[in-house]
Amino acid sequence: MLKNKKWIGGGLAILTLAATLFAAAMPDAQPALAGQEQGYYGKTPKYVFYFIGDGMGMPQIDAAQIYKGALASTDSMHKESVNFASFPFQGMQSTHSANSFITESAAAGTALATGHKTNNDVLGVDPTKQIKFKTMAEMAKEKGMKVGIVSSVSIDHATPGAFYAHQPSRKNLYEIGVELANSGFDYFAGGGFLQPTGKKKDKQSVLEIAQQKGYKVVNDQQAIMNLRQKDGKVIAIQPELTADQALQYEIDRGGHLSLADFTRKGIELLDNPNGFFMMVEGGKIDWACHANDATTTIRDVTAFEDAIAEALAFYAKHPDETLIVVTGDHETGGMTIGFAGTEYKTAFKNLKNQTMSYEEFDKRIASYRAIVGEGGAALEDWLPVLADNFGLTALSEYEESRLRNALAVSAIEAKQRANDEHSKRLYGGYEPFSVTVTHILNQRAGIGWTTYAHTGVAIPVFAQGVGGERFQGYYDNTDVAKKMMGVMGLQFQQ
Ligand SMILES: [Zn+2]
Repeated sequence: MLKNKKWIGGGLAILTLAATLFAAAMPDAQPALAGQEQGYYGKTPKYVFYFIGDGMGMPQIDAAQIYKGALASTDSMHKESVNFASFPFQGMQSTHSANSFITESAAAGTALATGHKTNNDVLGVDPTKQIKFKTMAEMAKEKGMKVGIVSSVSIDHATPGAFYAHQPSRKNLYEIGVELANSGFDYFAGGGFLQPTGKKKDKQSVLEIAQQKGYKVVNDQQAIMNLRQKDGKVIAIQPELTADQALQYEIDRGGHLSLADFTRKGIELLDNPNGFFMMVEGGKIDWACHANDATTTIRDVTAFEDAIAEALAFYAKHPDETLIVVTGDHETGGMTIGFAGTEYKTAFKNLKNQTMSYEEFDKRIASYRAIVGEGGAALEDWLPVLADNFGLTALSEYEESRLRNALAVSAIEAKQRANDEHSKRLYGGYEPFSVTVTHILNQRAGIGWTTYAHTGVAIPVFAQGVGGERFQGYYDNTDVAKKMMGVMGLQFQQ
């Protein structure tokens, strides 16, 4: 027995020596150790991009590809792939949270940023709300990388917040904003703050706190474009924001800055010898899907693709040092290609005629309601608008009656409307006339929706670059984070 022990002792010493020599022989050896423990033996990327399409599942991606094909060719079977669909490594991740098969963005974001499950609506802490989970962005910052967080929704929203905040509720918006100011990250860009001075507007402004922490706060388009590395830590906010402090939908954007603009500026400001980590969220894909508006969804998927194109342009210059990972946090709307009324047919060209989002259309309905009032609405007033802005002409009797009923409800002040089961299923709490218009237009294209909420289906993952091979297979959303940490040489915190 004793004899064996000595032998084992000797053997172990040799093994450790071999591992150290092996680690020493491999370039960037040290960081890989953490990765090794997580099964990664390759090079560590210097530049890491993490693109999260909120609410973006495979149906949203496929719809965007068929739509792009319909734009590019009269051939009804022409399809044009999105840039990330041709990434060499692809996988699938399951999205359930700690307490629901249908997650929401705080729990999913926490899993994707920290590798840990938590309950719905909880951000960056465990289900008991006692234990803080360290995010890969915080670890990257500690490791000396520069860190950027970009989103098309408010910068204190669930997904961006999941990378720097730790709150018992995603609704603690002021506290999330204060955590942003204290994060020490280098670049925050896109939307604004929902509660900059607290729920009761009685707190010190988070922007003031951020400035005291050395941030340059910029919300002028030209000033944002003129930002340079010498400006140091930056919070860049779109000058004109929509409701909820978000960027415009791509379909409504006009000359406002895009997600791609904020991504490109981020790359310029973050590039440095120690590398950077950048999380970019296409946040309004989710919102458009909640509202069951396919064209607006698709346009925001292509805006997300444009932001990824900025990372690909950078990748082309640094192919051996860059990792790009693209995924979603959950699917929203139960979107699918295939609808009862159109069976095997699709006609995505119908979507080309839509010129505005439901959000903009809602504004028109609101001003109409103010004029005509309850009982005064007439579909005839809207036929030219439906033709010009949605290409909706030649209405069938069925379509017409649905539009008339919905318009009559839209003419009633929201608070006065029926809230019965039938209305909930028909309109999902959205502007009845708007959602009926998008439903009819989407159904004509062959697109169906099952819900106004999220769904529990698995989500695709696309990876390109250093360590991309780690993202193949079917795994859990927490594994996406663990794989990224492994590749980045960061230590997953049990
Ligand atoms: Zn959502």
